[in-house]
Amino acid sequence: MTYIGRFAPSPTGPLHFGSLLAALASFLDARANNGKWLLRIEDLDPPREQSGVKEQFPLVLEAFGLCWDEELSFQSERLQNYDDVLNELANQRIAYRCNCSRKQIIERCSNMVYDQHCLYHPPEPEQQCAIRVRCKDCLISFRDIIQGAHAYNLNNSGDFVIYRRDNLYAYLLAVVVDDFLQGITHVVRGSDLLDETARQIHLQQLLGYPTPAYAHIPVAANPEGQKLSKQTFAPALDTDNPIPALFQALVFLDQHPPNELLYASKDELIAWAIENWRIKDIKQTMAKPLNTTEQ
Ligand code: GLU
Ligand code: ZN
Repeated sequence: MTYIGRFAPSPTGPLHFGSLLAALASFLDARANNGKWLLRIEDLDPPREQSGVKEQFPLVLEAFGLCWDEELSFQSERLQNYDDVLNELANQRIAYRCNCSRKQIIERCSNMVYDQHCLYHPPEPEQQCAIRVRCKDCLISFRDIIQGAHAYNLNNSGDFVIYRRDNLYAYLLAVVVDDFLQGITHVVRGSDLLDETARQIHLQQLLGYPTPAYAHIPVAANPEGQKLSKQTFAPALDTDNPIPALFQALVFLDQHPPNELLYASKDELIAWAIENWRIKDIKQTMAKPLNTTEQ
């Protein structure tokens, strides 16, 4: 079986324990399946980028014993590919320009589901526009390796943006194009992206791309129940002391590492984790608090 997995952090802040969970789970799943594991930096949103952070990502992953295959890649180097796909969708009239402001959408659409106004009233060519994808009568179902069967009716969320009005490519477009171009067969990432998956599959189907297997791991929550993230000020990973965080990540992922591993070297710990990786042991839950994970 060919297996190509990836870790795809955005450089909006330093890597934290939540990032380590996604990195470690995708890495272990790839290695346990004799697969490749790629590192892709999702730097498509310069205004939200924190300077100096993306240069740190490779160093932090190395410090945690997570070595990727091939050269690391940057989304900012693939703008032409995204543009080609936008044109392809526009030519097929699957995508259309929209210049509605957020305020207009709030006023017109009480449920915030876009009403396709611009599909029927196309903006003038010189107007600055977002680009939306049509998803009328679109039912998407998939079976997530951890979260089980999911079905979505994309009518409920409406035609979504793949190019932003502030002239940036949207995550949803870039991730689908990249996963295809890089031949990704398995996506292992945080459950906060589970709801985005149906839209990604919709785009894959429109573009004739294969759909990878998906496994959405639970996200770690702080004692207040908020997802650990840059927004909730999760502390940056401590590269001088990787063992406790790696061990805690394995516990969180229901892999039951033996206590001796706390005194092992990083390489021993990673070797144990690859050898003993059981993705099926990860409990089907979207989030759980960090402090109450028991062994
Ligand atoms: N760049 C996204 C993030 O940091 C992850 C994308 C993905 O794994 O699909 O949240
Ligand atoms: Zn519009």
